[in-house]
Amino acid sequence: MSTSTNSHVAALQDKQFRHLIDGGLQDSTDSFDVINPATGEVFARSPDASRSQFEEAVTAARRAFVGWSKAGFSERRHQLERLADAMQQRQEELATMLTLEQGKPLAAARAEIARAIGIIRQLVKIEIKPEILREDAAGRAELHYKPLGVVGGITPWNVPIVLAAPKITSALYTGNTMVLKPSPYTPLTTLLLGEIARDIFPPGVLNIVAGGNALGQWMTEHPLIDKITFTGSIATGKRVMASAAVNMKRVTLELGGNDAAIVLGDADPKEIAGRLFAASFANSGQVCQSIKRLYVHDDIYEEMLVELAAIARSVKVGDGLEDDSDYGPLQNKAQYDKVLELLEDTARQPGVRILAGGHALGRPGYFIAPTVVAGIAEGTRLVDEEPFGPVLPVLRFSDVEDAIRRANDSRFGLGGSVWTRDVEKGAEVAARLETGVAWVNHHLGVAAEYPFGGVKESGVGRANGLMGLLRNMEAQLIVVPPAV
Ligand code: NAD
Repeated sequence: MSTSTNSHVAALQDKQFRHLIDGGLQDSTDSFDVINPATGEVFARSPDASRSQFEEAVTAARRAFVGWSKAGFSERRHQLERLADAMQQRQEELATMLTLEQGKPLAAARAEIARAIGIIRQLVKIEIKPEILREDAAGRAELHYKPLGVVGGITPWNVPIVLAAPKITSALYTGNTMVLKPSPYTPLTTLLLGEIARDIFPPGVLNIVAGGNALGQWMTEHPLIDKITFTGSIATGKRVMASAAVNMKRVTLELGGNDAAIVLGDADPKEIAGRLFAASFANSGQVCQSIKRLYVHDDIYEEMLVELAAIARSVKVGDGLEDDSDYGPLQNKAQYDKVLELLEDTARQPGVRILAGGHALGRPGYFIAPTVVAGIAEGTRLVDEEPFGPVLPVLRFSDVEDAIRRANDSRFGLGGSVWTRDVEKGAEVAARLETGVAWVNHHLGVAAEYPFGGVKESGVGRANGLMGLLRNMEAQLIVVPPAV
């Protein structure tokens, strides 16, 4: 660990974290533990927002909406660019905080903060203008877009800042104000972001409050919140959608995935194994859109297994603060236990071969060895559920039609990919995947200029791109007769 990382760690461990409410930083009477997943030990405490603090945040957001919604796109763009600049200045502190509470290696944490900054800058470049639908002797019809009011943002623990940044930007740029709640497992980097944002936006425009799941429920039920933008599990997404009905809240739901990648028989295992591995094991497999089912053609199946297993055995899993760690721990004990249980279930399946990993690392913290599983089929928990951990089932196929059918035979529909030397053939197969995003010879990571989201139970609506921004606005049709 470098001396500068050391000094950030020391400062962050002593720091008092506070909510951002109505332009001020606030403590709470109650607080909860935050655990470093690399040690399994409590290293800090987060304030736990009371009901009245939450109400104060909503009231402040409602009040601030009056001015902010009138500020115009260029002013709001300017303020969001200032946020991006301020984050850049404190990038190292934010990244260190992220590693401490989330577990990912420092290099990945730095990349997450850099990506979040890039997303802010990219989204505010998108122009939103009224559309003239018709203009002739009969008159004119215009479509105008207006902000909704107060947007509630709820984020999970896997990539807290890369998810907070587009939620904040999409809501604020389009003229809404916001109350944002991070996951109770990883609240601190988002609270630090709130501290940075305090000096930028007018009071009440952005409020960040930490708390448990009950706070999320208060948000989804609150009559003065007009939209919920939620990222998390399908089970919670369903609860959010049900309680959002209370005042017909708009929702954008970015939920779980069980992405399939299909490798056709003409692909070169040696050439692509590294990229497939990275797209599956990034963030220790805790990415909504990572490869979670790998379908490989018979002709290259065994060779692909050898390549993947060799990588799995060669990477270094360790504390994210250690310079040579490629992958960190699982983020929390519940997820760690869930993945270990899945591995036990997998080992019991007839014909299964565990080619690498398959076990926890014998050390404190929530570490699991990168695991490659062969000889597994649909109908098992590992293949049918979203593992959200460093475990990749590799399935065999001989007919591409069969691979497409099996990839689509899922309640999930987030992303998918096709790997082949023939990119046009790949594009044809990709278009037949029932997913919100499909790639050829690539998987994971969608630029903020494009809409991102899932079909089936993987989500409702799209984030990012013009389509995602417009989900924070309501269209109004204005019909004007010809002048007399
Ligand atoms: P989770 O659903 O348990 O929690 C997500 C957030 O919802 C947390 O902030 C939590 O406090 C809050 N919450 C819990 N109960 C609530 C309720 N009743 N009402 C409102 N809010 C409530 O999810 P998680 O375990 O933190 O995250 C992992 C999941 O997120 C995985 O399934 C993953 O695929 C998914 N995910 C999806 C995307 C995407 O873009 N599609 C991105 C990242 C993660």
